[in-house]
Amino acid sequence: MNRIDYLRISLIDRCNFRCTYCMPEDAEIDYVLKQDLLTQAELLTLLRQVFIPAGFTRFRLTGGEPLIRSDVVDIVAAIAALPETQDLSMTTNGFLLADKAQDLYDAGLRRVNISLDSLDAATFDQLIGRRSSGTKTNWDKVWSGIQTAYAVGFNPLKLNVVVVPGVNDREILDLAALSIDREWHIRFIEFMPIGNGALFEKSGWISSESLRGQIRERYGIEESSITGNGPADIFKIPSAMGTLGFISQMSECFCDRCNRMRLSADGMLRPCLLNETGQIDLKTELRQGTDLAELRDRVIKLVEWKPEINYKLRDSGNAQGYARSMSQIGG
Ligand code: SAM
Ligand code: SF4
Repeated sequence: MNRIDYLRISLIDRCNFRCTYCMPEDAEIDYVLKQDLLTQAELLTLLRQVFIPAGFTRFRLTGGEPLIRSDVVDIVAAIAALPETQDLSMTTNGFLLADKAQDLYDAGLRRVNISLDSLDAATFDQLIGRRSSGTKTNWDKVWSGIQTAYAVGFNPLKLNVVVVPGVNDREILDLAALSIDREWHIRFIEFMPIGNGALFEKSGWISSESLRGQIRERYGIEESSITGNGPADIFKIPSAMGTLGFISQMSECFCDRCNRMRLSADGMLRPCLLNETGQIDLKTELRQGTDLAELRDRVIKLVEWKPEINYKLRDSGNAQGYARSMSQIGG
């Protein structure tokens, strides 16, 4: 059985982007109210007294957009300073990264995944649902965040690409080529029907195997000797400095290898991305004064129960969608 030791922590469900595949403009989203967000102190209490004793040692900060949380650098510093923390990383859209990269690095963050779905400023704006204003485009700002993070020393630097047919699929080869001359790791994520029904129905999704076929034809592709401990299958263009990861939750269901749980911004612990079975409202329990040892035992039981809860996306035949978006769950 997989060791469940990896917790994805959503710091906030709001975002400065409105990606069409994540938070479609017409979607009505019930944002978590400020008073319902887990505070830094509550999060640290849960990590120290509940999650770490339950075996969690690897943490990823995500959202929504984690960098819009004003105390993000302090939270990074506090988690990095916990002696049990073996790995701390962040997933961000990169828009605010140019200004924050150095502070995050100094606070102890070493790994960052930045979403970059396009190399074209107009397509990028279309995907993120935001119009550029001023002299720099939105894409310029994210690109500058990526360059700054690289210069500051974030390693590995991973770029996440969600491929939406008819929107950015023509850029696969250019995006893959970013891995050739730099030690950047490009991760192609199959588009999932989560909170985006209309777009998914219209565009559909492209399998990782088909992307690999295109890359193979143009550059060649080989399995990498590096194997991640997450869901990505790792390949590389021969002699490239970086790698290509493929996250194939639609075509290859990897529920059996799942090693993670998710904590939402309002303190809901969710054992599986794709269903709500077994979740625990840790924030409410904490605020009601439930004994922390009891909460820890409940989390340990949930960890043991997780293999039965895991949802087999492909086997279920349910590609019609989930009401909550990735930004709400903590993608
Ligand atoms: N805002 C940050 C960002 O975009 O990197 C972190 C949160 S975002 C929800 C985390 C990841 O989920 C991003 O890489 C995003 O591209 C991915 N994502 C969001 N909606 C998705 C969907 N419907 N299918 C596949 N991946 C999705
Ligand atoms: Fe925001 Fe990330 Fe969702 Fe895009 S994918 S809307 S950047 S949370």
